[in-house]
Amino acid sequence: MNLEEVGKLYTPEKMMETITTREYKEKYVDFEVTMKACRECPNYSKNWACPEFYEDVLENWDRYEHLDLYLTKINFTREALSASYDMDDIEFIINNTLFLERNKLISQLEEEEKARNGKCLSAGFCTVCDECSRITGQPCRYPDKCHNSIESLGGLVSDTLKGVFGEEIKWIDMENGKLPVNLSLLMGLLY
Ligand code: SF4
Repeated sequence: MNLEEVGKLYTPEKMMETITTREYKEKYVDFEVTMKACRECPNYSKNWACPEFYEDVLENWDRYEHLDLYLTKINFTREALSASYDMDDIEFIINNTLFLERNKLISQLEEEEKARNGKCLSAGFCTVCDECSRITGQPCRYPDKCHNSIESLGGLVSDTLKGVFGEEIKWIDMENGKLPVNLSLLMGLLY
């Protein structure tokens, strides 16, 4: 599989909703729930964008008034849905659909972050460096490029998709190598 082939497997669909941080915190933030999942992740304490945090990250929900939520749906084609993929193909597809769209949006949100004196919220762990400097106990090399995910600050992604966008989160069937109808990417801007 190559980049050209992956590019033909999906169409991105973008949506945006604005919510006050007060409402978001009340309805969709549960740090204990997300921390439980984070502790089970191989990146826990190995990436500067991820927990364990040394500061009170929940303060972010009180520091800003508004949250723009950006949902990107990676809609797979009929051809993609009818195929079965091995683990290498699935990793290649995730990197060049979900992470590709994430990285494009990060560039846009970094501009907005500067313009509105806000905070960009990404998805997943930070992938700017091949190996995060946290692994060797060194400070972050590019703090301006390191963005927490919504989930790492306690945001419940599945509940947000349902409550704000009326969407259901879907998962890859790893056992059978099957893609879901769509994958979802939730990012945001606090300002
Ligand atoms: S910019 Fe590099 S060092 Fe900093 S969090 Fe990201 S991967 Fe780690």
